[in-house]
Amino acid sequence: MAAILEQVRQRANFACEYCGVTEEDSGGKLTIDHCQPKSKNGSDSLENLLYCCIRCNQYKQNYWPENPDQPSLCNPRQEPASQHFLQLDNGTLYPLTSAGDFTLKRLRLNRSFLVAHRLKKQQREKELRLLIRYQELVKVLAQLQMQLSDLIEEQQTLLKEQQELLILLLNRKN
Ligand SMILES: [Zn+2]
Repeated sequence: MAAILEQVRQRANFACEYCGVTEEDSGGKLTIDHCQPKSKNGSDSLENLLYCCIRCNQYKQNYWPENPDQPSLCNPRQEPASQHFLQLDNGTLYPLTSAGDFTLKRLRLNRSFLVAHRLKKQQREKELRLLIRYQELVKVLAQLQMQLSDLIEEQQTLLKEQQELLILLLNRKN
């Protein structure tokens, strides 16, 4: 079992597959969630296991639709989050599907800590983009500087030639 847990953990890239919180963020290992709960005939197969933070696991509990009328949760192993949610600039998730809407409410994916976490991540990504642009600008400036110094050198050569020509002309007159 330990080997399977490790496989689930690595497959999820050490982050909760529902809310994205990492082991690093939460300061320890996360839990294993049975997508279809064991109490509702879910298996221990790798396909049915998800890496899940304690909060999401607590909110999800052993929910599983008992009949087709009951809403189903998103399965992050089968569908990408972007299919169900849109992340807004204010850090909240906006549901795009009924499963997304239900999962959002059930797992409280707009809880204040997660919103703050998403905002911080957005900010970091923005800073990174700015840093890359800044590095590109510095590179362009360095190229311009080089072209400028080439031009100055050419100008000096021209000036020198002009002086020589002038001296030559003056000497001839004399
Ligand atoms: Zn979570």
